[in-house]
Amino acid sequence: TEGMTIAEIAHKLHREPAELVKKLFMDGVVATQNDSLSKDVIEVLLLNYDVEPIEKIEVDVADLDTYFEQDVDEESLVKRAPTVTIMGHVDHGKTTLLDTLRDASVTQSEAGGITQHIGAYQLDVEGEPITFLDTPGHAAFTTMRARGADVTDIAIIVVAADDGVMPQTVEAINHAKAADVPIIVAVNKVDKPEANPDRVKQELLEYELVPEDWGGDTIFVEISALFNQNIEELLEMILLVAEVSDLKADPTGLAVGSVLEARLDRSKGPIATLLVQNGTLRKGDSIVVGTTYGRIRTMVNDKAQQIQEAGPSTPVEITGLNETPKAGDQFVVFKDEKTARQIAETRSNEAVEEQRQSVNKVTLENLFDSL
Ligand code: GDP
Ligand code: MG
Repeated sequence: TEGMTIAEIAHKLHREPAELVKKLFMDGVVATQNDSLSKDVIEVLLLNYDVEPIEKIEVDVADLDTYFEQDVDEESLVKRAPTVTIMGHVDHGKTTLLDTLRDASVTQSEAGGITQHIGAYQLDVEGEPITFLDTPGHAAFTTMRARGADVTDIAIIVVAADDGVMPQTVEAINHAKAADVPIIVAVNKVDKPEANPDRVKQELLEYELVPEDWGGDTIFVEISALFNQNIEELLEMILLVAEVSDLKADPTGLAVGSVLEARLDRSKGPIATLLVQNGTLRKGDSIVVGTTYGRIRTMVNDKAQQIQEAGPSTPVEITGLNETPKAGDQFVVFKDEKTARQIAETRSNEAVEEQRQSVNKVTLENLFDSL
């Protein structure tokens, strides 16, 4: 069966072919832009994009155009909050920084109240929201990227000024570079007498992170996460990088996004923290999450408030799924629950089949052979 080439699909999606090639690679499919994809592979690929999944299961290759009925409407695109992941070597101050930032987000009226931990939170910096992913940075990158979910827009790499560049610092840099995500270096613990920020800068030259005052283009901010020094400067730099990245999403239409965390609660059933990446998620929506599905029964924000809807870059915690999904799973909202169930079942069967077939990663060739 002849499908469509990656270049043709990219054109329809208003994307670069290279981006699609990368996404496919993350799903274990090695292909170049002139390769023709089968319907199955295209279906998987399209889960990465906000494409109206109209009768997705039954269409054949000849009807592929029905996938693309919802063209990207440039006019509906609006600015969205950046999502930020904090990474770095153990004990360099990631948790302390996340806590300091979270405290800054708790307004006077909420202070002393119960702040629920949902794995992500949004900070308001003079009217500009920033979403921090409160999942261990490496997990957010390795697990999620392995599943094709690029949830991070900006990586903050924390380096303790009294310790310098360490193995996990390098690992974090490599993850951020592989994901093509802009890096801000937070040189932490500058309050310590033995702190040596210049040594950190010197060591990072080897990884092509050259500070602006040394003629490079990497933003370095010297902070003390523990003593709340220069945190505002860090936030300003995040907003600056976000501005340059020109992050946009379309809040109209059905939501798509990723699972940040999920767990099974004895009384409430599966609970998932989702990051909405496009569209608007609403209470009552029928949703496919990874290989499971359901209807959104309850939805709360990072301040444990019940909410009815959530737009792009908003983290929410939901209940109503039939099974517990995995971090990094992607979700797509469908118009009705029946379709959602069908898609989830197909995906679940495919996942089982795929696991059975592939000890090694699937290549395009043996994927076609197995059709
Ligand atoms: P993580 O492993 O990267 O999450 O590091 P933590 O946030 O747990 O911090 C490790 C230790 O460093 C803790 O004892 C913190 O109190 C301390 N620490 C973190 N940030 C600072 C800082 O800015 N200054 C000083 N003096 N200590 C810090
Ligand atoms: Mg920690």
